[in-house]
Amino acid sequence: KLSDRLATVAKYVPQGAKLADIGSDHAYLPCHLAKNKVIRFAIAGEVAVGPYQSAQNNVQSEGLTDIISVRLGDGLAVVEPDEAECITIAGMGGSLITTILEAGKEKLGSVSRLILQPNISAISIRKWFLENNWELITEEIIEEDEKIYEVLVGEKGDPKKPYSTNLEMGLLFGPFLHQRKEEAFIKKWSREMRNWQRIYEQLEGAPPSQETIDKRQELKEKIKMVEEVLRNED
Ligand code: SAM
Repeated sequence: KLSDRLATVAKYVPQGAKLADIGSDHAYLPCHLAKNKVIRFAIAGEVAVGPYQSAQNNVQSEGLTDIISVRLGDGLAVVEPDEAECITIAGMGGSLITTILEAGKEKLGSVSRLILQPNISAISIRKWFLENNWELITEEIIEEDEKIYEVLVGEKGDPKKPYSTNLEMGLLFGPFLHQRKEEAFIKKWSREMRNWQRIYEQLEGAPPSQETIDKRQELKEKIKMVEEVLRNED
C-alpha cells in the first residue's frame, strides 16, 4: 500500500498515461500505478545506484518489467523525447525539482502534465511554472506522520491564471491552498511563523550589521504575510 503522500501524487496520474517517475527510489509509485492498470508504460529514473537496484528488484519481483523500464541517470536524461506524457517527481526539495525540469526542458514537448511533490520550497516550483508557461491547475496539502507535504499539478496553459492580485502571496502559499485554508495548511504556516519569529528574536542579539538588518526586515515581512493569512483562523 502506498503512503498517503504518494497516493496523493498517484491520484493525478491520468488513466492510460505514459509516465516518467524521476527519483523513483523503490519504484513504489510506478509499481502501484501499473498494478492498478492506471498507466500503460513507465520509466523509473534514478541517479543513485542503490535506489536504482532496489527499483529494478521491485519491478522484477512484481512481474512488471513489460510495463516499467528502470533506468540509471540524472533527471530527465533517462527519458527519450516523446516517451513520456506525464512526469512525477516526489520527495525532493522544490529547487532540486526545478533544476531537473530546467535541465531536461527539451524532453517536455510530449508532456502534458507534471505532478510534483516538493518536501520544501514549493515556491520554487510555482515560480518555475510561471516563467515556463505551465499553469498550476491544482494543489493539495496533506499531513502524514507529523510531516506536511504539498503536491502541485501543472499543465501547459496560462501560467498567470491561478493568481489574483497579490502574486507574492500566491507564490508563497499556493493560490489553491491559500483559498482552501485546510487544517494542514494552517498547521504548516503556524509552524513556519513560529520558526521565523524565533530567528527574528535571535537576530536581535546579533551585531547590527546591514545583513542582520536586512534579514530581520525580510523575516518581518514574511511574518506579516502569514499573520494576514492566518487571521480569523483561531
Ligand atoms: N520519489 C520517491 C518518493 O517520493 O518516495 C523517492 C524519494 S527519495 C527521498 C529521492 C530520490 O531521488 C533518491 O532516491 C535520489 O537518489 C533521487 N534523486 C535525487 N536527485 C536525482 C536526479 N537528479 N535524478 C534522478 N534521481 C534523483
